[in-house]
Amino acid sequence: MTDSPTPPLLRATGLWKSFGDREVLRGIDLDLAQHDVVALIGPSGSGKSTLLRCLGLLEPIDDGQIFLGDEDISDPRVDANGIRARFGAVFQSFNLFPHLSVLDNVTLASRVVHRMPRREAEERAHALLGRIGLADKAKEHPDRLSGGQQQRAAIVRAIATDPEVLLLDEITSALDPELVGEVLELVRDLTADGATILMATHEMAFARDVADRVVFLDDGVIVEQGPPAQLFGAPESARTRAFLARFTP
Ligand code: ADP
Ligand code: MG
Repeated sequence: MTDSPTPPLLRATGLWKSFGDREVLRGIDLDLAQHDVVALIGPSGSGKSTLLRCLGLLEPIDDGQIFLGDEDISDPRVDANGIRARFGAVFQSFNLFPHLSVLDNVTLASRVVHRMPRREAEERAHALLGRIGLADKAKEHPDRLSGGQQQRAAIVRAIATDPEVLLLDEITSALDPELVGEVLELVRDLTADGATILMATHEMAFARDVADRVVFLDDGVIVEQGPPAQLFGAPESARTRAFLARFTP
């Protein structure tokens, strides 16, 4: 037996990304081990969404490498759709398909991408919807659900295919304050189930509570990262301190 640490499930090295002449990611190195829950914090425009999108192959990178397991998924020869199917992603604005029922939203990827038989996909979807108290909404269209219910359905859709990594991009920031709690509660349940999660968030109390590690991104670079107690309690960088000061009540 060796005592070498578990190899990362997701690893980014030297990621660079520009839009036009604006350098949005400037040399990002980031590791997630399996079951890691990592909160990505930073000012608006710091590159959080871009980083999540690049990692999930939803946006091409200009330089660097991304590994999922031991596979270089930034290699242009990979089957990008096959790789994307190994991630679950949820974004800020409710991105359920409006013309599909909640059930069809949740089962679509399982049936179409993963070729799961409809019966099996629907059984699984009903079980997941039941778990989050939306069993009776399965046949409804998304516009009949509250924002919090829609976002929980979007999370269930993202986990229906058993993704290896969940990418959550400020999934509560478009919600009315009274609906934030139920969505965060579901994320907390997923962390208890052992999900591997990278989440951009402004919910500092939640990040402190559930994240194994907090990463502070500013102007396209990781300024500082560490366990929540360290990053929130004793930030090393003046930039981190200045950012966090805005959240102190
Ligand atoms: P954050 O999620 O931290 O608020 P983003 O990753 O959304 O930051 O954006 C980082 C920067 O990249 C911003 O200046 C934003 O305007 C720019 N940006 C993001 N997406 C695009 C795009 N598709 N085209 C051009 N500029 C973009
Ligand atoms: Mg963003």
